[in-house]
Amino acid sequence: MTIYQNLIAGEWTGADAVENINPSDTKEVVGLYASGSAADTKNAIAAAKAAFPAWSRSGIWERHVILKKAGDEIMARKDELGALLAREEGKTLPEAIGETIRASQIFEFFAGEALRLAGEVVPSVRPNIGVEITREPLGVIGIITPWNFPIAIPAWKIAPALCYGNTVVFKPAELVPGCSWAIVDILNRAGLPKGVLNLVMGKGSVVGQTMLDSPDLAGITFTGSVGTGKRVAVSSIEHNRKIQLEMGGKNPMVILDDADLNVAVEAAANSAFFSTGQRCTASSRLIVTEGIHDRFVAAMTERLKSLNVDHALKTGTHIGPVVDERQLKTDIDYIEIGRQEGAKLAFGGELISRDTPGFYLQPTLFTEATNQMRISREEIFGPVASVIRVRDYDEALAVANDTPFGLSSGIATTSLKHATHFKRNAEAGMVMVNLPTAGVDFHVPFGGRKGSSYGSREQGKYAAEFFTVVKTAYTLA
Ligand code: ADP
Repeated sequence: MTIYQNLIAGEWTGADAVENINPSDTKEVVGLYASGSAADTKNAIAAAKAAFPAWSRSGIWERHVILKKAGDEIMARKDELGALLAREEGKTLPEAIGETIRASQIFEFFAGEALRLAGEVVPSVRPNIGVEITREPLGVIGIITPWNFPIAIPAWKIAPALCYGNTVVFKPAELVPGCSWAIVDILNRAGLPKGVLNLVMGKGSVVGQTMLDSPDLAGITFTGSVGTGKRVAVSSIEHNRKIQLEMGGKNPMVILDDADLNVAVEAAANSAFFSTGQRCTASSRLIVTEGIHDRFVAAMTERLKSLNVDHALKTGTHIGPVVDERQLKTDIDYIEIGRQEGAKLAFGGELISRDTPGFYLQPTLFTEATNQMRISREEIFGPVASVIRVRDYDEALAVANDTPFGLSSGIATTSLKHATHFKRNAEAGMVMVNLPTAGVDFHVPFGGRKGSSYGSREQGKYAAEFFTVVKTAYTLA
């Protein structure tokens, strides 16, 4: 089997490889992917550093053309790349193709942004002096990504990094190197100069840690667990390095008595269980007022019965497998914790066998949960959600905000008054009214508050905040 290698200083390299396994069918090896060493990582950082002066001064048209070409190729290959994504991560084929299209759109967006770079010219408070405020590239950016969005998250970090003139060392999650390799190959062929984008696949403890320890990374943009995010933060203080962290969520979805029941059930089922619940914007706390509680639980349970859990590539599959054995164990452990804490298992909770050996788990719904239970406070990252019963809107809002996290927050209601109040008072980076907590646009800011995020927003034109540094220049006229 060929080894998909790392790209360091424009050369494909690496003989040590690991198997990329399909979670829908653990007998299937998706491919062999290089596992980089600390030395590889140091070489990649050195290459990115050497490439920075020229790339940071490259023309905006060159950047536009490369990003546009990459976006176009991803779109042209959406079915093939979507299938690769579904095979390595386990989300369903339609979800995987949708994510691939989004990755393409992100490259198209930043291809456009490259042509829209602008600064400000303002008068000085002193006569005869002009002031220019411009944005310059930050430097070498370390990009560390998780397994749950194997193509979209790399795209939304790589595209702005390159658009604004930075060079990159990119380390994808070990579980899903396939899509990352594919987009790096596409960008490389699109004409990026050697060393501008370096790919080092491999272990977090080796490749990732070497990046954290390097004084040569001017910024690290990270999406992953709270624990690793903290390590990124602590290591970065020492190097005076800029960071952007997207970590966990424990996103609430409030359902009020006056909600349209169908809208509420669709939003909740999507939020909690689509993509196997493996989204940082997934809703795992369904906070339901007592007047609609029993009807909502009955309708949700019916909806869950209609969802097929099966091989990600099979037509008619609504929910693919859990990503790997370790995550499956975490999910099962939390289901047991929920039972012991006294929540009532209203649906699911069991492993399922299918034609192929995979990590199949029923969508699992607890009722009679409280917001103090561990299943309501800790991120599970699987197809597991709990219903928390509350008296009224005021209690619902208080419970929604009573969490260490603050990424996304949703409400189902037909009341303009409550929707407006919730938008203003939800302690979250993103608020959804009558929509799932997950599922966001590619051209507007993405990010959270409290324990979910640190640093400036990702995506849209707000991405410039992280990937550039501001310069203020004064000239005597
Ligand atoms: P998860 O538990 O969801 O896999 P992690 O935070 O462990 O989340 O992983 C997110 C990314 O961080 C992955 O690319 C992983 O390899 C990387 N990573 C893990 N440990 C470290 C570390 N010590 N230093 C840098 N990166 C790491």
